[in-house]
Amino acid sequence: MNNNHILKYRGNTLHTKGWQQEAALRMLMNNLDPEVAENPSELVVYGGIGKAARNWDCYDKIVHSLKQLNNNETLLIQSGKPVAVFQTHEDAPRVLLANSNIVPAYANWEMFHELDQKGLMMYGQMTAGSWIYIGSQGIVQGTYETFAEVAKQHFNSTLKGTITLTAGLGGMGGAQPLAVTMNGGICIAIEVDERKIDRRIQTRYLDVKTTSLEETIKLATNAKKSRKPLSIGLLGNASDLLPEMMKIHFIPDILTDQTSAHDPLNGYIPSNMTLEQAEHLRTSDKNLYIKYAKASIAKHVETMLAIQNKGAITFDYGNNIRQIAKDEGIHQAFDFPGFVPAYIRPQFCVGKGPFRWVALSGDPEDIKKTDQAILKTFSDNKPLCNWIKMAQEKIQFQGLPSRICWLGYGERAKFGKMINDMVASGELKAPIVIGRDHLDAGSVASPNRETEAMKDGSDVVADWPILNAMINAVGGATWVSVHHGGGVGMGYSLHAGMVIVADGTKEAERRIERVLTTDPGMGVVRHADAGYDLAIETAKQHGLNMPMLNQ
Ligand code: NAD
Repeated sequence: MNNNHILKYRGNTLHTKGWQQEAALRMLMNNLDPEVAENPSELVVYGGIGKAARNWDCYDKIVHSLKQLNNNETLLIQSGKPVAVFQTHEDAPRVLLANSNIVPAYANWEMFHELDQKGLMMYGQMTAGSWIYIGSQGIVQGTYETFAEVAKQHFNSTLKGTITLTAGLGGMGGAQPLAVTMNGGICIAIEVDERKIDRRIQTRYLDVKTTSLEETIKLATNAKKSRKPLSIGLLGNASDLLPEMMKIHFIPDILTDQTSAHDPLNGYIPSNMTLEQAEHLRTSDKNLYIKYAKASIAKHVETMLAIQNKGAITFDYGNNIRQIAKDEGIHQAFDFPGFVPAYIRPQFCVGKGPFRWVALSGDPEDIKKTDQAILKTFSDNKPLCNWIKMAQEKIQFQGLPSRICWLGYGERAKFGKMINDMVASGELKAPIVIGRDHLDAGSVASPNRETEAMKDGSDVVADWPILNAMINAVGGATWVSVHHGGGVGMGYSLHAGMVIVADGTKEAERRIERVLTTDPGMGVVRHADAGYDLAIETAKQHGLNMPMLNQ
C-alpha cells in the first residue's frame, strides 16, 4: 500500500456502519491526501515526522477496523497501530488514540528513535496522529491572530510598511507569509527546500520565489517604501542567511522562525549542506547529523539574539528552538519570549483557540453555508466576521473543504448545535466534523510554548491535558487522543485532542452540547486556576462551577 491508493470518499454514501466511523475514516484519509500531507508516501503529515499511522500495514488495518466497527464499539490506537476493539456504548468515543507517550524519565528523542526503529512507536505531532490535520489552513488564523497582536502591541495595529523575517515553509510554517500579508505586512521566509516554496506559491500562501539575498532585500525594501503587502520565499538555509543579513546590516522589524527545530534529526537542515547531503548524512551517521543540526540551531538563535539587540521584535514561534540553543550553550536563548505569553494567552483565558470544521460531503458549498451562519449569528463580533470574509477570499481549500476560526467558551457549543441543525434539516449535504488543534486553551502542558510563564508557575503541570481528554471522552467526543512531544519535541509537552461529528441526530446534539462546553471550559478553568483575572471573570460570568474559586 502507498499513498497512490489512498481513497477520497465524498458525498453521502457510507463505507462504514455509521457516520462517526465514516468521519474517522475520511479524516484519516484526508490527513494523507497528497493535497494535504507534506510527505504522504512516508505517512508523514506535517511538523517534522508527524505521522497518521505507524506503517502501511497498520494503515490498512485501521481502515479495515473502521469499516467493521459497530456503533457500540471503540477502536484503540497505540502510536498509530490499531490494537483492540472493545464493546462500549453508543455515546462513547468510536476511537481512542494514545501517541508517542513515554514514561517521563525516559522521554527524550534518543529513546523515541530507539522505539521507532524497533517498530514500537510513531511520532503523532498534534493533529497528524489524531486525524484532524487540514493543511496549512488549519493554523493560518492562529498565525494571523499572532501577527495581528504583534501589530497591535508594536506597530499601531497594522503591519503595513514592516518587514517580518522568518524561516520554514512547511505544513504549518507555510501559513506565515499569508498571515503577514493579511495583516498588511511584508514577509521574507527562508526555506531550504525549493519544493516547499513552490507548494506555497501554488496554494496562494506565498507571492514570489527568489534564490538571491540581494533581490530579496530589494523587493522587501521597495514594498516597505510603498507600504504594499508582499511575501517572498528565499531559497537557502536560515542558519547561513541570518548571519549574512546581519553582516550587511539588514535588520527586519519582526523576527521569528518555524523550521522544525524541535526535531534536530528530521526537522532541521544543518548549515552549509544541500538537501541531498543532509539526507545522506541523516541515514549514514545519525549522531553526526544531530551534532551538526544542533550547532546550526545554536548559530541561528545566536544571530536571532543579535538581530533582536538591533531592535527587531523577536519571538519564538513554538518550535522549541530556544531550548535546543540553550542546551548547546547559548545561555541567553530565552531572552526572546515565546508567542503564547507574548501574544496569545488572553485568548486562552476565555477558552478561545483554533476551532475547525470539515465538510464530509466534499462540497465547498457546505462550508460557504456555515460561513453564512457564522456571519449571521455572530454579527456583532466584527473581528470574527472580518476573518470569515478574508478567509473566504484568500484561503484555498486543501483536501476536504474546511474552515477554521477562533471561538471561545459558549460560542463553540452554540455554533456546534447550529451546524448539527443544518445537517438535520438537509441544508448541508452530509455531516460535519468538528475538531481543533491540540494547541488550544486547556489541552496542553508545554512549558516552552502553551504554558510558558504561567502566572502561578504551573508551566510543567501535565494533569490538565489528561483531565481534558477524560472529560471529553466521558462527554461523548467521537475520537479523543492523548499525545506526547507535539510542537516542541520529546520530553517537552503532553497534549490532548478531540473531534466530534455533527450528523444531525438528537444524540449528536446532546454530545456536542456536552463536549463543546467541557472542552473550551477546560481552557477557562486551567487559566482561572492559575490566577488570570480574565479567566476568573469568564468563569464567573458563565457560571462555571470551580469549587476552589467559589469560596
Ligand atoms: P515541517 O516539518 O512541515 O516544515 C519545516 C520546514 O523547515 C521544512 O519545509 C524544512 O525544509 C524547513 N527547514 C528545515 N531546516 C531549515 C533551515 N535550516 N533553513 C531553512 N529552512 C529549513 O513543519 P511545520 O508543520 O511547518 O512546523 C514547523 C515548526 O513549527 C515545528 O517545530 C512545529 O512543531 C511548530 N509549530 C508551531 C505552531 C504554531 O502555531 N506556532 C503550530 C504548529 C507547529
